[in-house]
Amino acid sequence: MAESINLKNAPSFINEVQKSSGIKLRNCYQCGKCSASCPMVFQMDYPPSTLIRHAQLGLKEEVLTSKTIWSCVSCITCTARCPKEIDIAALMDVFREMSVKEKLATKEQAKIQKFHKSFLEVIRAHGRLYEMSLIIRYKLRTLALMQDVNKTPKMLFAGKLNLFPPKIENIEAIRKIFERCSE
Ligand code: SF4
Ligand code: SF4
Repeated sequence: MAESINLKNAPSFINEVQKSSGIKLRNCYQCGKCSASCPMVFQMDYPPSTLIRHAQLGLKEEVLTSKTIWSCVSCITCTARCPKEIDIAALMDVFREMSVKEKLATKEQAKIQKFHKSFLEVIRAHGRLYEMSLIIRYKLRTLALMQDVNKTPKMLFAGKLNLFPPKIENIEAIRKIFERCSE
């Protein structure tokens, strides 16, 4: 159900988002370019610009329970096109984190976050995707140990699952990127 608009909530939510992300939410002037560019808008309950407007109005629950934040695939088109240089893709990430932290995400939505975390850990550890490691990390996080297990032989046979991790040169450079991002 939609929250009633109480502008007293706005500054605290905007400040909370700005503090954790460094993204200046107030700068959005609702040009709509992000919404017009988004390839996933058909899956969302609100286009990205409306979501940002809700955030500016302090509609925290509306934002953190919206389908929009979970439909975003982080393609960064909106971020690249925003005339106010607002990193909308990163903002979606912040909203997803907040939604899980505040227990407003459904179980299925929280799994998306667990998948993202597992994926990033694999890239950090191996420098590129290592499917076997991703599957193990994701399954341990979600405890969905038997999910899709019947597909394993077919994937192994088709060469889609390598038993051994990939080898890449200069993995240290990849790790440095992660270090810089977490600073
Ligand atoms: S493109 Fe940027 S300024 Fe325009 S609506 Fe989206 S976030 Fe706001
Ligand atoms: S990053 Fe997300 S919100 Fe932005 S254009 Fe891509 S899918 Fe849409």
